[in-house]
Amino acid sequence: MLQLDNVDVCYGSFKALSNISLTVETGELVVLLGANGAGKTTLFNGISGLVKPEAGDIRFEGKKLNDMKASAIVASGVVQCAEGRKLFPQMTVHQNLVMGGYVHRRDRQGNRKRLNDVLALFPILADKAEQPAGSLSGGQQQMVAIGRALMSRPRLLMLDEPSLGLAPLVVKQMFETIKQINSLGTTVLLAEQNAYAALKIAHRAYVMENGRLVMEGDQEAMLGNEQIRKAYIGA
Ligand code: ATP
Repeated sequence: MLQLDNVDVCYGSFKALSNISLTVETGELVVLLGANGAGKTTLFNGISGLVKPEAGDIRFEGKKLNDMKASAIVASGVVQCAEGRKLFPQMTVHQNLVMGGYVHRRDRQGNRKRLNDVLALFPILADKAEQPAGSLSGGQQQMVAIGRALMSRPRLLMLDEPSLGLAPLVVKQMFETIKQINSLGTTVLLAEQNAYAALKIAHRAYVMENGRLVMEGDQEAMLGNEQIRKAYIGA
């Protein structure tokens, strides 16, 4: 579904991504592990078209994304849910969610159906629909951010550190919801520092260090890998 071949991304003279090659198959939940600054967000921004690769190919369902506008990439089914949620805090929960359906604005009926699906996934958001998004708890705001991304009807959903800053119990629920979104048919690429919880729900994982992919493996191999346990799990 998604294929990156030898992708480089630079910020001026600084090479933030070097020679990245990875794949995500339809239906998979793939985790990208890496410390702060490893390049996870840059990789997501490269796929989303927010930064342009200096070299290499990014393809989604065979179509080259490199030179496409970010809005066209969303319309083609690749949707990013940014780190830090980036909600419109003064606007209501409902308005934030509706904003996610903007690329499909001509299909009002489809957007209404999708909104119902999102509210079925996050019932609490129906109760909070008319409240300003900024007044919600951290976990609820993350639900709005994921719900807004789902309103864009992703076939590939990229989640950047969704558990950041959330209480442990809320993190657990968040990972269960991500697993459910994947089970319902959306392919997921998840960047996380919370390695153990992320690997528990993943099919496969890649590890990033200093802008390079240094390891790849399926869930079992990664959870059993001593290097991974030492560096990312701590047990
Ligand atoms: P975090 O979880 O902290 O966001 P990350 O793994 O997502 O970390 P990136 O944000 O992709 O890492 O950053 C990768 C590297 O690129 C870092 O060294 C960072 O300082 C640098 N970088 C990121 N954005 C820019 C930018 N706009 N201009 C210059 N350097 C940048």
